[in-house]
Order: sequence, then C-alpha cells, then structure tokens
Amino acid sequence: MKNQYKFLVTGGAGFIGSAVVRNILNKTNHMVINIDKLTYAGNLESLKSVENLANYSFHEIDICNKNQIYDLINHFKPTHIMHLAAESHVDRSIDGPEDFIKTNIYGTYSLLEATRKYLKTAPELVNESFRFHHISTDEVFGDLDESDQLFNEFTPYDPSSPYSASKAASDHLVRAWNKTYNIPTLITNCSNNYGPYHFPEKLIPHVILNALNGKKLPIYGNGQQIRDWLYVDDHADALYHVITRGRVGETYNIGGNNEKTNLEVVHSICEILDELVPNKSNDSNHFKDLITFVPDRPGHDKRYAIDSTKIQKELNWKPSESFDSGLRKTIKWFIENREWWENILSGDYKMHRLGKNK
Ligand code: NAD
Repeated sequence: MKNQYKFLVTGGAGFIGSAVVRNILNKTNHMVINIDKLTYAGNLESLKSVENLANYSFHEIDICNKNQIYDLINHFKPTHIMHLAAESHVDRSIDGPEDFIKTNIYGTYSLLEATRKYLKTAPELVNESFRFHHISTDEVFGDLDESDQLFNEFTPYDPSSPYSASKAASDHLVRAWNKTYNIPTLITNCSNNYGPYHFPEKLIPHVILNALNGKKLPIYGNGQQIRDWLYVDDHADALYHVITRGRVGETYNIGGNNEKTNLEVVHSICEILDELVPNKSNDSNHFKDLITFVPDRPGHDKRYAIDSTKIQKELNWKPSESFDSGLRKTIKWFIENREWWENILSGDYKMHRLGKNK
C-alpha cells in the first residue's frame, strides 16, 4: 500500500498510548505495532475495538530488555517510533522510585540504543522518513507561581518528584542521542490529560468513580494546586501532527489552555454528575457533600501551565474540546462503560492479558 507507515508504539496499553493506537488505526491505514510490559497500568481491554484489525499487533515486552527490543524493531522495521511506555503516577514514585528509574530512564536508553543499531542497517527509505518521538510531561519544568510566565520550549528543567526527575532525565537522553548520534528525534511535553480509559488512580476518574459509588472525594491540601487539562484524544491528535509534520530535533509543548485548581475540577465533576445521575437525596449539592480534604502530597507543585503557541502556529494544531465538553464526554463514558472500570477495581482486567500476544 502506498505511504503505509509502520508505527511502533511503546506503552500502547496505557491511558494515552491506547488513545494513540486507536487514533491511528481509526483514522489511517498505517500499521501499528504495540509493545507494552502490561504493568498494573496496562489494560488490553482499552484496545478491544481494534485488537482484531489486520494492521495491528500486540507484543508483551519490557522496554528495558535491549536485546528483545532490538530483535522486534529489526523484525518489523518501523518507520516511526512513538515512545509512551513509562511509570507515570507521582504518588507511586514517592512511595517507590526504583521502577521509575528503571523504566523511564534505563528503558528510554535501551530503546534509543536499539533504534541506533537498527538505523545503522535499515534501508535508506526508512532512514529518510524515520522518526523517534519521545512523549514527555510538563512536570519536568517544576513549579510556577501564579504570576510566572507559562512553560514554553525554553523553560529550564526543574523537576520536583522522582517521576518528573526520571522523565526529565529521559528527555535529556533523547536530545543527546539526536545531537551525538543523529537519531531523528522529536520531543513533546504535555499538560495533564483526562478522558475515557483513564486508570482510576488518577484524580478525575478517581473522583468520578468514588462519586458514583457514594464514597468520599479526597482532595490534597487545600485543593488550590493549578493544572492545565487536555482531553486525551486531543493529545493523541497533537502527537500525530508532531510525528508526521514536526521538525526533527525540535521540542513541542502541548496544552489545553484550561488552567483549573483541583478544587474547581472536583466541583465541575460534581455539578455534571448532579445533572447526569438521578439524584437520590433531592439535594442539589449531593455530590459536593462527599468532598473531603486530606494531607497534601510531599513536594506537591502548585501550578503547571503550558504555552502551546509553537505547535499551534507551526503545525496548525489546536484542541477541539473545551474543558466542559471534554469533562462531560469523560463522565458520560465512565457512566456508560461500567464494565471497563469495574474489571479494574476487581482486578479482572488482568485476565484479558492471557493468550492475546500475536
Ligand atoms: P500509563 O501509566 O497509563 O501507561 C503507561 C504504559 O506503559 C502502561 O501500559 C504500562 O504497562 C507500560 N509500561 C510501563 N513500564 C513498561 C516497561 N518497562 N516496558 C514496556 N511497557 C511499560 O501512562 P499514561 O498516562 O498513558 O502516560 C503515557 C506517557 O505520557 C508517559 O510517558 C507519561 O510520562 C506521558 N504523559 C502523561 C500525561 C498524563 O496526564 N497522563 C501527561 C503528559 C505526558
């Protein structure tokens, strides 16, 4: 087929990775090779809609396994690599940083080295069109005061948590492999994502599911931490723009222009749920009554906010969802897809892993 790319996606069973895989397969005829270790965060049930497509395959592999990764890359000969595999939960990085150092730093190194070896022998065509796209976070920039300028592509790195420090290290490795070995890399740093298939430990799904189950809605500290929120399918679309049109060696910041305090986010969820879910108590503040404040997380950054002018101007990308429209879609999705999250809460989602390797 003419111009059929082969995308190798790492971490494609995760929240954003599965959105990336579905986006490419739903909108193009390209091939997708999904490699994922299937940690607790990997869920093949998020890929049910595409798992039987002929141009899709899944491979259970740890990116830290350099030899296996090289063999797979050399076998499939991808034209594009999108690297999303990571340990991604800040609280878990505080409780136990080791997996973050291994996967986020060593795993990225292993993938870069496998790519370097592959490109040495790859056909010329692959060398011309090949891109290595590293997907990173705005958390590498650290904390902003309310009066500070938004993060742009020149903001110095100043990570606060073991998670953000490990992602910062991986960004530096990718830049070094571009400068030293001429690997055609791209980096994106994105703000907080939310949307369907979001693992229930993260703020927005956690609050939605606790509310639906009549449980307390915990908020760290005073809830005044500010984050910029982006709907996950808008992120997947931005990543496709960057890997197919971005300039090699460049970094692009991706954001949603939706700065909200955590308390505002939880209030919005409660208000939408009050509308969508028949109210048992006839009390319009029913869901807000479940809010409870818990001790703050150590090293909790106060504000992250992204300036995404570069990707908007250079690659003509902008988000299609407002925070309200994206949040409504997300809440409706969680109400209508009970089985997906009940299988996570019960642990049954791990059963879907058996016998699914192609
Ligand atoms: P996630 O935790 O939902 O998914 C991570 C995936 O990586 C899982 O499927 C997991 O099984 C897999 N994985 C973990 N270790 C692996 C290993 N050693 N080998 C192979 N696979 C492994 O994370 P996410 O929220 O989808 O984030 C994806 C990427 O985007 C991460 O790199 C993260 O830093 C970045 N990011 C996330 C956000 C966000 O708001 N979630 C924002 C900006 C950037």
